[in-house]
Amino acid sequence: MISAIERLQQALFTGEKAGKADAALVTSEENRFYLTGFPSSAGSVLLFPEEAYFLTDFRYAEAARRVVRGCQVVCIKKMNDTLKELLQKHGARSVLAESERLSLKQARAFEKAFGEAGIAVTADDTLDETLTSLRMIKTPEEIQKLREAQKITDDAFTHILDYIKPGRTEREVALELEFFMRRQGAEGVSFEFIVVSGTNGSLCHGVPSDKPIQAGEFVTMDTGALLHGYHADMTRTVAVGHVSDEQRHAYDMVLKAQLAAIAAAKPGVLCGDVDKAARDILEAEYKGAFEHSTGHGVGVEIHEWPMFAAGNKTVARPGMVVTVEPGIYLEGKFGLRIEDMVAITETGCEDLTHSPKELIIL
Ligand code: ZN
Ligand code: ZN
Repeated sequence: MISAIERLQQALFTGEKAGKADAALVTSEENRFYLTGFPSSAGSVLLFPEEAYFLTDFRYAEAARRVVRGCQVVCIKKMNDTLKELLQKHGARSVLAESERLSLKQARAFEKAFGEAGIAVTADDTLDETLTSLRMIKTPEEIQKLREAQKITDDAFTHILDYIKPGRTEREVALELEFFMRRQGAEGVSFEFIVVSGTNGSLCHGVPSDKPIQAGEFVTMDTGALLHGYHADMTRTVAVGHVSDEQRHAYDMVLKAQLAAIAAAKPGVLCGDVDKAARDILEAEYKGAFEHSTGHGVGVEIHEWPMFAAGNKTVARPGMVVTVEPGIYLEGKFGLRIEDMVAITETGCEDLTHSPKELIIL
């Protein structure tokens, strides 16, 4: 298995993109982590066709040498000076930069520093697009990291079922989920958890409040553990005490839509068609109640490519890991969502989420 750095070198310096530039400079935290597997708040990865460097300062250099493979770790004092020296050493006349994630200030600083040495900074979309398409296809090792992050998330769901009772607040449930995941070894949480109940359930990205959960309400929990730098993402909706026929029917429809989208998620289909599989079912009866996309890619960031979104022409391919998360949000009444993470395989998809999803009434 070749490293992420080697894959990027191949994609940039051989084949149709060859000749665009002599070097590439990756400075964003997410892409640095993706390439090196080493989390750091500062640094950059400089790639040439024949060599790669991870430049960081004394806080990280020693630890990085123990972890980072496939590139030389260089301890720097002044980043731009060292970058310029290396570019000159390799005879580079042009360097690709990340247009999407570079601040204007950084871009100007690079242009000034490298320009003096006659090296052009190319901040078109080449580097961003190449990294995006590499990151879309997860390696078996990356999928295993997501599986392990999801395992903690599944275990937290099992745990919380005994904890949720009338009178507990949304915030208490969110905190208990987080404590549990961290006790199980999670490095952190994938995002600020969403725990919403009753009429708050229609706020699809609602913030947990001090509202006590009451009998007859849905509780929607959108959570995920962060492990090995990879983000799990799962939503489950449970009911407390009892449910109305209207709630039960809405739940059945969301589950039906979710299962239809998972069945549609296989190599060769358009990502937009996976969205459509869920949307057609919900729009027939709940028009306007499901306005977000059916799913998003997930990995070193909680939201990445591809999207299971209406009209998306991206073709699903093995290695993509995408959420499937239809929901219904009825203002003033209730809301619910069911979300799994699936990995596209050679023949269909593997559901990385194992928590039950038939309606649970606590
Ligand atoms: Zn989620
Ligand atoms: Zn999600």
